[in-house]
Amino acid sequence: MSTTSDRAREVAPPFRDPSSLDAAARPHRLALARALVGAEELPVALPRFGLRLDDVQVDGAALCLELSAGAPVARVRLSPRRRELAPPSSEAPEIGIEVRPGGERHAAALEAIRARLARAITPARWEAARPHFDALRALPLDVPMAYFRQLVSGVGGREGLVRTGFACNQDCGMCWQSRAWSGPGAAQILTWVEDLRRAGATRLILSGGEPTLDAALPEYVARARALGFAAVTLETNAVQLAKPEHAARLAAAGLTDAFVSLHAADAAISDAITRARGTHARTLAGVDALLDAGVTVTLNAVMTAEGLLRLDELPALVHARFGGREGLRGLMVSLPTDPFDGALRDRVLPDPAIVREVLPRTIERALSLGVPVLGLDGPCGPPLCAFGADPRVARLEPLGEALEFRVHPPACDRCAVRSACFGVRREQLARFGDACTAPLAARPR
Ligand code: SF4
Repeated sequence: MSTTSDRAREVAPPFRDPSSLDAAARPHRLALARALVGAEELPVALPRFGLRLDDVQVDGAALCLELSAGAPVARVRLSPRRRELAPPSSEAPEIGIEVRPGGERHAAALEAIRARLARAITPARWEAARPHFDALRALPLDVPMAYFRQLVSGVGGREGLVRTGFACNQDCGMCWQSRAWSGPGAAQILTWVEDLRRAGATRLILSGGEPTLDAALPEYVARARALGFAAVTLETNAVQLAKPEHAARLAAAGLTDAFVSLHAADAAISDAITRARGTHARTLAGVDALLDAGVTVTLNAVMTAEGLLRLDELPALVHARFGGREGLRGLMVSLPTDPFDGALRDRVLPDPAIVREVLPRTIERALSLGVPVLGLDGPCGPPLCAFGADPRVARLEPLGEALEFRVHPPACDRCAVRSACFGVRREQLARFGDACTAPLAARPR
């Protein structure tokens, strides 16, 4: 998945978003209510239980019946017993009940509903309902549209971004996305690609989740190039690209650039960060395949707390594995966003004092090996004081606009490079406070 959740200066083009997701979802909600509980409308009273069925919703892999009695009472979760589609009629769903605050006094009714559903939802009945469940899941009802498509005005002109979905073959703790968020579907993705080109974007970023999991990815790339995008960049972990011909197929479709997540030199540390065993080696092989196919590659290391102390090993790996290869742009180093799973913040958000110790050493090693270091002065990079505002890797030019997700705490007012610095990420400031900043007394040369 991409770690670049936020981009500078988003502008608003005329996107043709799904006209009305609720309208599209309504027939499937009704069909499910009819198939599972015999209801002909929604909401519908359940007088025998003294409750009302308000709605049928999807939450991750579960189908949910929302029950109320004046106020929300409970959510009945019907979960397929396997993540993948089971053979027809093989299994009925598991039934669980999440009781809402105050819903405990309906415990007897809820237990009666559970027993009734367990009898009524036979494997065959469940299987007959599955097409509507799958159709409902495929609608991106739970994801803000801005997460899917953006048009930003960058230094080199207008740039578009489309996320193909949020499924991923890794599960990085730092990720700001939920893996349960649904995707928009190929037709909608192609519509947004057209919208972005019509709005004047000349570069397109295809991101995710992990976009290489979408079988239609070569089609998106080819369509974008046919529409006139001068460049198409893939944000990826490159794991899939280790497979024969994958990278070459994308290059043949017109892929020009790849932005590849590579967070550590050590395979065990990397696999712990991505929570996907064995993927470090495949990412390296995927980068090889991209370079072999003539795609320009930028590597991106996110400084998470769990990998930070050994970040300075990464330049040597990049040099040994890819040094001198045509097409390697360099190593970008960025800070994580606030993780979707807030319980992981300790593992993810790096201590600014340790960043200020490790990052300059990492930069020094990279430059001594001829590995360009990128992005440190950009929206996703750390504050400039994290690396002494080293002018070899930062432009130190006045910035045009502030970023909503970065702020300047009061200490910045006495900093010599304030005008060139985007400031501190809000989640870092909330966690580490004053320790986030180390104002510079003089502008470095
Ligand atoms: S002290 Fe503030 S303005 Fe100066 S480099 Fe750090 S974050 Fe930026």
